[in-house]
Amino acid sequence: MEKIKMTTPLVEMDGDEMTRILWKMIKDELLLPFVDLKTEYYDLGLVKRDETGDKITVEAAEACKKYGVGVKCATITPNVQRMSEYKLHEMWKSPNGTIRSILDGTVFRTPIVIPTIKPVVKNWEQPITIARHAYGDVYKGVELRVEEAGTARLVFDGESGKHDEVVIHNFKGAGVLQGMHNLDKSIRSFAHSCFKFAIDSKQDLWFSTKDTISKKYDGQFKAIFEEVFQDYKAEFERLGITYFYTLIDDAVARVIRSKGGFIWACKNYDGDVMSDMISTAFGSLAMMTSVLVSPDGNYEYEAAHGTVTRHYYKHLAGEETSTNPMATIFAWSGALRKRGEKDGIKELMNFADQLEGACFDTLGEGIATKDLVNLMEGITPKAVNSADFIAAIRQRLEKRLA
Ligand code: NAP
Ligand code: MG
Repeated sequence: MEKIKMTTPLVEMDGDEMTRILWKMIKDELLLPFVDLKTEYYDLGLVKRDETGDKITVEAAEACKKYGVGVKCATITPNVQRMSEYKLHEMWKSPNGTIRSILDGTVFRTPIVIPTIKPVVKNWEQPITIARHAYGDVYKGVELRVEEAGTARLVFDGESGKHDEVVIHNFKGAGVLQGMHNLDKSIRSFAHSCFKFAIDSKQDLWFSTKDTISKKYDGQFKAIFEEVFQDYKAEFERLGITYFYTLIDDAVARVIRSKGGFIWACKNYDGDVMSDMISTAFGSLAMMTSVLVSPDGNYEYEAAHGTVTRHYYKHLAGEETSTNPMATIFAWSGALRKRGEKDGIKELMNFADQLEGACFDTLGEGIATKDLVNLMEGITPKAVNSADFIAAIRQRLEKRLA
């Protein structure tokens, strides 16, 4: 069989620990035998980040901007313990944070849904994707504790000399205060990423805030989304998908009653809270995919989980592990499909479909990693280690491609 050709390189970002081990297994078994893989390789493993003073992360993000599609392995975000473990020169920032700020993107998290793992909410049939606005609000808030009676004011002094002032509260005694902000530019980028992703994945887009209470602040989010939607309206109509705005509390109720199969765009705090609820209700962190979409249409795919440290130490001790590679495989299939779409390579898009199909075939036959075995219903699953799981996928992939 001839290998599938690529024209533009994919930005490949290697990572750390157990996911780095899986990364190589996935490439060797599921990609390189079938695709003439063209990648521009960046090693974002902690050792290399430390060696390069974290320049490698910035270069990788720039490459994603240049080529438009990247795929990333999970990476360690250093903490105090990692400082000594890796003898680091500095406590480097989260690579995901660095990449996100360079691409100015929004993260979309989607669970991989299979028939034998039932979501906690029994009417959910399709995945629900959460898009969280990752700038501002309470995360960039400033706070004050007041301990006596007095007046709190919100004050703005413009460069032009414009002065605005409102009384927040006339305190009769002790209390708390919080000031927060957001930027039209950031909200607009968020909106563009959401509409782009909805078109890409041909799903409805829901957006929710509390604009009945927060008329100016949340009202601005609603207005910007409505304005940006005008750029995408025709395409939405052509695809038969809708943009739907509603209040956050109404959205929560509707999400629970829904069948799934849409994107839910949330403000920063709502997205923080709701993404944990949605991912837990769908079953497993190891089955959650993640893609960063920039407002100008660049894509970075990854698994939502981390480097699975506990399994890595077992691996180092010579033990077999049953770490689930699904989300990392889907990061690759997502990236290859998008590369195929951008370059007009149908074979590459088909390969991505077949690779995902082979994963579903394998799980459908009850061959699964340990984390999934206890979640499966209506089937007697067989737990296998990572290597055997990947080998089982390869067999089914070969059959599909023959
Ligand atoms: P984690 O790597 O996601 O793992 C937490 C636990 O979840 C694991 O110990 C394992 O449970 C289970 N799990 C996660 N993924 C799994 C998989 N693919 N297969 C089977 N089980 C899986 O989170 P963490 O241990 O908190 O973080 C480890 C490192 O990852 C940290 O250094 C952190 O900075 C980094 N991290 C990176 C990213 C990223 O790059 N996107 C995201 C999050 C965390 P059991 O141990 O019970 O089997
Ligand atoms: Mg959270």
